[in-house]
Amino acid sequence: MSLIVQKFGGTSVADCEKIVAAARKAIRAQKQGHQVVMVVSAMGKNTDVLVDLARQINDHPPAREMDMLLSTGEQVSVALMAMAIHSLGAKAVSLTGAQIGIKTDSTHTKARIISIETERVKELLDAGNIVIAAGFQGIDENLNITTLGRGGSDTTAVALAAVLDADACEIYTDVDGVYTTDPRLLAEARRVLQISYDEMLELASLGAGVMHSRSVEFAKKFGVPIHVRSSFSDITGTMIVDQPESNTRPVGGAAMTKNEARVTIEGVPDVPGISHELFHSIASKAISVDMIVQDIGADGRANISFTVPRDELEQTLDAVRSASDILKYENVRHDEEVSKISVVGLGMAEQSGVADKMFRVLADNKINIQMITTSEIKISVLVAREDAQRALAAVHSGFLLDVTPDDAPESVAAVSREREHDAAEVVSRLRTMEDLTIDSIVLDDSQSVIALRRVPDHPGIAARVFEAIAAEGILVDMIVQNVGRGDAANLSLTVPKSDSEQALVVAKRIGDELGAEEILCKADAAKLSVSGIGLRSHTGVGIRMFRALSDAGINVELINTSEVMVNVIVEGKQGQAGLDVLNKAFADVLLD
Ligand code: ADP
Ligand code: ASP
Ligand code: MG
Repeated sequence: MSLIVQKFGGTSVADCEKIVAAARKAIRAQKQGHQVVMVVSAMGKNTDVLVDLARQINDHPPAREMDMLLSTGEQVSVALMAMAIHSLGAKAVSLTGAQIGIKTDSTHTKARIISIETERVKELLDAGNIVIAAGFQGIDENLNITTLGRGGSDTTAVALAAVLDADACEIYTDVDGVYTTDPRLLAEARRVLQISYDEMLELASLGAGVMHSRSVEFAKKFGVPIHVRSSFSDITGTMIVDQPESNTRPVGGAAMTKNEARVTIEGVPDVPGISHELFHSIASKAISVDMIVQDIGADGRANISFTVPRDELEQTLDAVRSASDILKYENVRHDEEVSKISVVGLGMAEQSGVADKMFRVLADNKINIQMITTSEIKISVLVAREDAQRALAAVHSGFLLDVTPDDAPESVAAVSREREHDAAEVVSRLRTMEDLTIDSIVLDDSQSVIALRRVPDHPGIAARVFEAIAAEGILVDMIVQNVGRGDAANLSLTVPKSDSEQALVVAKRIGDELGAEEILCKADAAKLSVSGIGLRSHTGVGIRMFRALSDAGINVELINTSEVMVNVIVEGKQGQAGLDVLNKAFADVLLD
């Protein structure tokens, strides 16, 4: 018999009428011959209400007690849902995370799933019940209640679908699918019928709140197709699967993270170990750092910038200041009025011209770029918050996201899960379900770094540089822009070694025009890439990498990060040694 997991988010169970409507959907699926597991969120904004209550009592509520409190929201909804199903004449049993046996680690408010029991759920299903699971919660080894982080019911749903070997995982929400960008932010956003796991993963972690990013990690890892659809209608929504919507378009979606803060640490000694010290002190406060940018040092000193959520800025600055003895920086600056705009697309990996297009669109709209980071499948820029909405609209239309691609599927593909047959293997994988897994560690020594230092900062710099380089047919790989002292921009990029001389000529020409202070070429660079799943949500990855390299006396010159890959540039002759130490450092999580 087939099994379906149906997840209902807060707005979908916001009142009694909606709870009954959700109950009817589950009963209908059961009548069609499926076994049904429902995963339910807290009603409406109930979790926010609980968070607010806690803050009224205590500015820094203990995380354990926070979980005790927040988990009650879901407990209310599962009970009411079971009652609704009973009243409609079907059988249902509600279960908390602990009753199911969703075991997590003890990181309260951000716990990770370690394993999930399936017996009780299966028995209840076999006895003809609809099983209603409380989303977002689990239990640690000491029987403490834990929660998985805001939005975590999606992760409960996909994880249950994975362990129960479900045929489908349906995410019922208040939008009728995944859009090219948040439809609440941009009216021109277009619903897509299909999006790839990797794109959804990036978009989710870059601000597309429609899916909890860790749920997409699970889906990818265990091959669970996700159907995102509306609670309030029956139209088919969006399938999150292996394949993107289009194989011809470079960009599949855009996202905005509105409330960011930038921290720039100026003049840190450009020696091994600094990045490690810095991010170690921040990670010890469980703050997740994004958009890490370090530009190439001059006079033995480098500038490191990164972004953090705005409400974690104070804590971050405390951490940076408390490490000042070790970091020996000259100055720390911050800007809390910034937003991050990103475009994501699997097709970017194969097409050139995406970055210069993005920078051109922003320049034409007179939007200044403060920082740039790229990865194989995304480009993020940091802009002033007052420009963010315009920037999002500009890149959305610039990449034709409002227009359906010619090769888009006409209907939602019927995807079935790749079936697991070996029960023992499934169980063994479950034991470390949310663990970090690294697929590969790769050395690429075919690149050179070009850097334009201290370019007077104004809109259009990046566009000028990248258009000129693209005009020569040179493929740019990594792009990093940092804010230098006095707001001058430092722009670094990597190009194939064979093109480095030509790229340097172009960079010199444009750099002179723009008034850059210095143009450098490090012809012999080595790129070390660590790729896997969950690299950003496991904040320790960067730290492990930096520590391993610094212990080996290897200096990191450029950094960029994404959900699926962390890249660093080191000096060419240290590439092989770097690869060896990274292989050792990640040996325990490296899949072979
Ligand atoms: P739920 O309570 O059902 O989990 P969420 O509020 O977490 O619902 O997620 C749904 C919301 O996600 C939508 O209302 C929409 O505004 C927002 N959203 C952000 N980005 C996207 C996107 N790319 N596509 C669709 N919705 C998005
Ligand atoms: N109720 C939790 C929250 O609001 C979990 C969820 O809805 O996914 O974050
Ligand atoms: Mg949600």
